[in-house]
Amino acid sequence: MISPGTLKTLYTLKDGGYQAYMVGGGVRDLLAGLTPKDFDIATDAHPEQVKKLFRSCRLVGRRFVICHVRFGHEVLEVTTFRGAITDMHARDETGRVLVDNDYGSLEEDAFRRDFTVNALYYDIRDYSIIDYCGGVDDLKTGTLRLIGDPELRYREDPVRMLRAVRIANKLHFRLEPGTAAPISKLAPLLAEIPAARLFDEVLKVLMCREGVDNLYGLRVYGLFRQLFPATDEMLGDERHLAFLNLALGNSADRIAQDQPVSPAFLYAALLWPPVQRRVRQLRASEGHAESLAMEQAAEEVIARACARVAIPKRFSMPMREIWAMQLRLTQRTPARARRLMTHPRFRAAYDFLLLRARVGADAVLEELADWWTRAQQQDELPPVTATASPDDEDGEPGDEVSPEGVPARRKRRRRRGGRRTSGEAAPAG
Ligand code: ATP
Ligand code: MG
Repeated sequence: MISPGTLKTLYTLKDGGYQAYMVGGGVRDLLAGLTPKDFDIATDAHPEQVKKLFRSCRLVGRRFVICHVRFGHEVLEVTTFRGAITDMHARDETGRVLVDNDYGSLEEDAFRRDFTVNALYYDIRDYSIIDYCGGVDDLKTGTLRLIGDPELRYREDPVRMLRAVRIANKLHFRLEPGTAAPISKLAPLLAEIPAARLFDEVLKVLMCREGVDNLYGLRVYGLFRQLFPATDEMLGDERHLAFLNLALGNSADRIAQDQPVSPAFLYAALLWPPVQRRVRQLRASEGHAESLAMEQAAEEVIARACARVAIPKRFSMPMREIWAMQLRLTQRTPARARRLMTHPRFRAAYDFLLLRARVGADAVLEELADWWTRAQQQDELPPVTATASPDDEDGEPGDEVSPEGVPARRKRRRRRGGRRTSGEAAPAG
């Protein structure tokens, strides 16, 4: 299961006279019986020395330089052993290490890593595992244990709290009690982490096969509240929680089937509860039409969320579209319905609607979702039943529908004598 690129890199470094080991999640997953995602390589060669050995090597990172070595599609991360963190290192007032770019020995590198099972080195020279921190024993007993003093290690880098939840669930390991204990107290330290880094970490922890379990873990330890405070406030309502779990489960199933998943869809789901709440508030207090309320709510909720977790524009734009289309999907005149189905975001918006309908207890949503399902399956658009009353106050001029979804008279009169397509002429049932 070790990739050809990994082996080539290890042997090239060894033949160049350097130490080189496979380390990290790849070794851990192999030993735990999972299929590794990728392998990281640790070496005593410095970046410039690595660069001399590999033509395809690129150096990345400004402070602590990492080498990216390419073999075809494979990109390997080669990292020089890091030195121990000491009291001499600069920290902020919470204990977070600010600068650390010293090189070190293999042993120092091991103690710098987060969990014991992440600090196992595979040596190609004799096919052995080097274990300074007791990782092999912890693998055997299914224990995720932070190396060193847990509180100190979380303070050095609070993202380790998110990694603890994620890796424990991935391996089906239990968190060692000393590793679990400080998390609830230290969860607020996540506020110190740059919002852009948290965006990546949130995807790793929620857009994966264990997303549902991870959400549960994040909530138990008070971590979710730090990431999405506005959403967390609303999860006391079972329906919001059910909706989020459905969205996460849906992504997980797609990942398991090797289907693509989109961060925009996931983040749209994560922020949907506060968006809905804000829409209701704006309609009540400002008397906004629903589409205007939606637009403004989206703007405000995204802006507030980005203070914690920075959502890049390329995702926040489609998120807004998915939300806006939840309204447009209620408007089912034949012309609009057909136009909507060709919208690039239609599929995502429809999937989102399906999830909303699956939460249950809303006959109107269920009817709507079912209608769109049938609309895509058959040539003719299905009739719109009277139970679904589209909220058409936001309609474009000349495109209005009556409450039953029948095209308004003016429009039909305009078409009299003209060519009609079958769907447009169909009266609503
Ligand atoms: P996966 O790749 O399955 O998500 P991983 O453990 O390999 O999990 P990476 O982010 O790829 O995660 O990190 C590779 C290795 O680098 C880890 O196994 C660990 O040894 C070390 N590492 C990563 N993040 C940290 C951290 N915040 N503190 C200390 N060591 C870390
Ligand atoms: Mg990894």
